[in-house]
Amino acid sequence: MNHFDVIIVGLGPSGSIAALLLESYGIKVLAIEKEKEIYSLPRAVTISDQGFRMSQLAGIDHIYEENSTVLGGARFTDKDLNTIGNAIDLDGLISQNGWPPSSLFHQPYTDQAIREKLEKSRVDILLEHQFQHLNYKDKKNTIKVLNLKDQEEIEFTYRYLIGSDGGSSLVRKELNIQQIDLEYNRDWVVVDVELKNENTLGDQVIQVCDAERLATFVPSHLPFRRWEFIIHEHEDKNTFLDEKKIQELISKWLKPEEYRIIRKAVYQFHSVVAKNFQKDNCFLVGDAAHQAPPFMGEGMMSGYRDAVNLAWKIAATIKNGLNEKLLESYEQERIPHSKFVVKNSAGIGELMEAYATTKDPKEVPIDLVEKGYGSFILPNLSHGLFFGGKANETMRSGEIFPQPVLYHNKKIVKRMDHILGSNFSLVSKYTFNVSEENKRFLEMLGCKSLILKNEYIEENSWLKFFMEEEKAYLVRPDRYIFGSTTSDVSLDELIDDLKIRINLENIK
Ligand SMILES: Cc1cc2nc3c(=O)[nH]c(=O)nc-3n(C[C@H](O)[C@H](O)[C@H](O)COP(=O)(O)OP(=O)(O)OC[C@H]3O[C@@H](n4cnc5c(N)ncnc54)[C@H](O)[C@@H]3O)c2cc1C
Repeated sequence: MNHFDVIIVGLGPSGSIAALLLESYGIKVLAIEKEKEIYSLPRAVTISDQGFRMSQLAGIDHIYEENSTVLGGARFTDKDLNTIGNAIDLDGLISQNGWPPSSLFHQPYTDQAIREKLEKSRVDILLEHQFQHLNYKDKKNTIKVLNLKDQEEIEFTYRYLIGSDGGSSLVRKELNIQQIDLEYNRDWVVVDVELKNENTLGDQVIQVCDAERLATFVPSHLPFRRWEFIIHEHEDKNTFLDEKKIQELISKWLKPEEYRIIRKAVYQFHSVVAKNFQKDNCFLVGDAAHQAPPFMGEGMMSGYRDAVNLAWKIAATIKNGLNEKLLESYEQERIPHSKFVVKNSAGIGELMEAYATTKDPKEVPIDLVEKGYGSFILPNLSHGLFFGGKANETMRSGEIFPQPVLYHNKKIVKRMDHILGSNFSLVSKYTFNVSEENKRFLEMLGCKSLILKNEYIEENSWLKFFMEEEKAYLVRPDRYIFGSTTSDVSLDELIDDLKIRINLENIK
């Protein structure tokens, strides 16, 4: 009764998407959350193109779409809001994921709708239950949970445990996993307001490089707007929660009568990454595994990437009986990627400081400028479950395969990611032949073979680019490319490598 394939501790954004994804694979999941209600105030405000595509996998993209606004761009400015360097213009762009690069959403709306979807799902949910203890060393896979309503202690056993219990994760502590501090630890005050009048503040994120006070303006989903202001070490942070102080900080943009403050909070923006994301059959995802300052708006996205990367692998070991070594590729792939997000989020903060303290912005060292602007482009995956164990440019392995999209007159009519299925897929423009043995192997994996119709390719510049060469792509369930055929590697060789890698070989 008290045994589950997967127990998830913490139903924030990361735990919620992990639960929905695992449920979609038919896995028996228990989710434990100490709070009764969702957190009612916004923290994350931006969702990336990949975030939207990952939401499609969990069937929650419509929730974000209904509650979001496309972001127009971003720029660094001086204290008088004059642009420094190049503004980043995102207007009209659609990425290979089939979505605009960045959109702004109102988290209380989306979290509530996601919670309702979870409650209707087959996931067993225990709200007002607090995870208390796990003894991973005794190999009994038991956790202790306290029912906060009657103070009764309950034991559960699991095959896999996912700790998505946020920055101060008890799961991480119980697993004795240390964190690496990447040393950006500053206090900022974050203020969300509701506009009373029509918006006059534009649709771009503004990084204000003012030596007196660094600030970020975020044009959140209407009618909301966000400001973040740095608090200097010698200042008393409590004074920054004073309404008059906040009004003074916002006065560059709006008069007090033009908005209503809906939330004010002082945060210490951290830069930390856990040394390991896995210990035996326990995993960390989301803020439990990494925390980045929010300059890039990628913290929650990183948590989504963790959940998507891990969910299909766990499902494949349970449903397809694949070797558990497959799970080792989770931290191998996710640690370097999330480290990039953490380091480069801090890079934006460092560039802001450099612009603020240098008289002529042209004097700011190029490596800081590149780090700041480069942060907006995320890397591919480098090592892990790919042909040969590592990404390869010729094969495009480690890159994300473009989403098939139906266009009409250059406008998106329908996103078609579902045609790739929820397991591996083999995608080409032409029919392909594989050995009988490999056919059976692909069937066992639930792999979908797909001849992409020209209607998907012609108007989609991303797919056109990927499909130019006469390649067959082997695409993973999380849409990363495992490998593709080249003049040196046939389709059967590609599949043979996958076969060895997910069944037997230690993934290096
Ligand atoms: C000011 C600010 C702005 C941000 N802006 C962005 C942005 O624009 N875009 C973006 O992508 N990210 C952003 N982030 C980051 C984002 O909010 C976090 O990365 C995200 O909320 C992490 O989600 P999570 O599910 O991993 O953790 P959390 O949201 O912290 O959820 C953890 C859950 O675990 C529960 N829990 C904890 N301990 C226990 C226990 N012992 N037993 C049971 N349950 C437990 C908690 O109650 C909570 O519900 C921002 C963060 C901040 C602070």
